[in-house]
Amino acid sequence: VVILSKIVYDYIEKYVRSLLNERGDCLRRMEKYAEENHIPIIQPEVANFLSFIIQTKGVKNILEVGTAIGYSAMVMKNAAADCRIVTIDRDPGMVEKARENIKSEGLEKDIKVVCGDAVEVLSSMEDNFDLIFLDGAKGQYLEFFPHCHRMLKNGGLIFADNVLFRGMVANNELLIRRKITIVKRMRKYLEFMSKNSDYVTTVLPLGDGVAVSLKKGGRSYEEA
Ligand code: SAH
Ligand code: MG
Repeated sequence: VVILSKIVYDYIEKYVRSLLNERGDCLRRMEKYAEENHIPIIQPEVANFLSFIIQTKGVKNILEVGTAIGYSAMVMKNAAADCRIVTIDRDPGMVEKARENIKSEGLEKDIKVVCGDAVEVLSSMEDNFDLIFLDGAKGQYLEFFPHCHRMLKNGGLIFADNVLFRGMVANNELLIRRKITIVKRMRKYLEFMSKNSDYVTTVLPLGDGVAVSLKKGGRSYEEA
């Protein structure tokens, strides 16, 4: 019987984290707050990978679903000084906290926090994005997809967090009853994205599992 609830060995995780750079005061304060209040912010190696991708691709316009206290938004903003972020959360308390954190760093012009249910907000949006980060409503990624697809530029990325959900997505022995719906929906999302011929998708056992999907048809660097 499998009893792991983390998808990466502790000793690997510890070692990889030891290689990461120190985060600034603001991020550290937010990490502490998140820990004390049980808010599931992105894990350090996921933050690192997101930053890596943003810098590799020269990402400028970002959409995020699931703001919480604004931690991942701040991480992404730090990765590219010239990027702009729209981030959505349905929890007014979180939105308030996020806006406070963002304002304390003077970033309110570049990080716009929208309060509302993501499906509704996305339906009414018409912007274009280079990167869409999905990290809220684990069971709803597939519902968000048509809107993400519509607003994502060719060559853009959909980066989805928590896709392996403590291993439950990969192994029924780990699956707990109250997570069955979320897990089934997550599997559907991963299968759908993997088969989708408009995208190339890679699923990585990083943090709690991430899926990065590239929308085909973007210009190559030679042409750009
Ligand atoms: N991305 C954040 C963590 C997000 S936690 C970080 O890493 O720092 C998930 C958040 O998604 C919660 O704050 C929750 O309120 C929000 N959420 C869940 N379902 C949602 C939905 N349907 N629409 C908008 N926000 C949602
Ligand atoms: Mg997450």
